[in-house]
Amino acid sequence: MNEKYMREAIKLAKKAEEKDEVPIGCVIVKNDKIIARGYNLRESKQQSIAHAEIMAIQKACKKVGSWRLEDCELYVTLEPCSMCTGAILQSRINKVIYGAKDPKGGCIESCIKLYEYKGFNHYPETTGGILEEECAQLLKDFFKKKREKKKKQITKD
Ligand SMILES: [Zn+2]
Repeated sequence: MNEKYMREAIKLAKKAEEKDEVPIGCVIVKNDKIIARGYNLRESKQQSIAHAEIMAIQKACKKVGSWRLEDCELYVTLEPCSMCTGAILQSRINKVIYGAKDPKGGCIESCIKLYEYKGFNHYPETTGGILEEECAQLLKDFFKKKREKKKKQITKD
């Protein structure tokens, strides 16, 4: 079950990559149905907040007609950042399932463990490492290509 929806998130990450965006994709599932999809659009939109999760959360709220996404599960290819873990709390999403860890920005298990802080009125369940290799490889390949492109540019000049 987890892998099925993560595969959908990976498809969206690839869509991001086609637009020369860092490949991160996200789907939101309710009653075993995808109700929203999103992928990273930070460069295209020149918006710091245009992360895959935010794009998907906005669509899900519209679809449900409520800011409460209580019975929803969010699948994302990369561990959510400080903003997105916050948005997940604000949306009361039930479950967060992610692929790769993000040692430089992840706020579920890497930089901080936001959901281990006491005092919030809502906590989502979390599961990491679903199709982790595949999710991480997408990012590695993307940055490798970027570096090679840059190198070529330099040698050309
Ligand atoms: Zn984020």
